[in-house]
Amino acid sequence: MKKYRYCPICSEELAERDDGERTRPVCPNCGFVHYLNPSPAAGVLVMKEGSVLLVRRRYQPYRGMWVMPSGYIEYEEDVEDTALRELREETGLLAELDGIHTVVSVSDDPRGNTVMVLYEGHITGGELKAGDDAEDVRFFPLDDLPPVAFQAQRTILGRLSRRYRKGRD
Ligand SMILES: [Zn+2]
Repeated sequence: MKKYRYCPICSEELAERDDGERTRPVCPNCGFVHYLNPSPAAGVLVMKEGSVLLVRRRYQPYRGMWVMPSGYIEYEEDVEDTALRELREETGLLAELDGIHTVVSVSDDPRGNTVMVLYEGHITGGELKAGDDAEDVRFFPLDDLPPVAFQAQRTILGRLSRRYRKGRD
């Protein structure tokens, strides 16, 4: 996670201030406090006959590994719109959301911690085709998953996979 060294408001060098619980960079000149918060992200879980839609990452981090379609929420963007936009951009598919599957903290992204809202969705149109950020896009059977990036996504898919196996036995 990159931290500011200089105040983004007045350019003074930041100093560390301990408030008893944690240390935060603050500006001795204008009082700006550099809060470190996780960035919000949104994604979509799309299932089809026991298979899950995954996207192969074209860029770092975890290049070449697979993830559910997801991305950062833009400042003015509604969280549901982010989920649908990322799905469309990365997979070419249009969908309707069916509700929130789960909300998770992601702490193994070197770009910084995130909180991801993961929706469930079903496809309403479009054509399956890897987008700019994706090397490949495919449905994988839950019992035959490729290497998945991010611990939180592995946990979610592992849980789904166990539930699916139980339902089938
Ligand atoms: Zn300042």
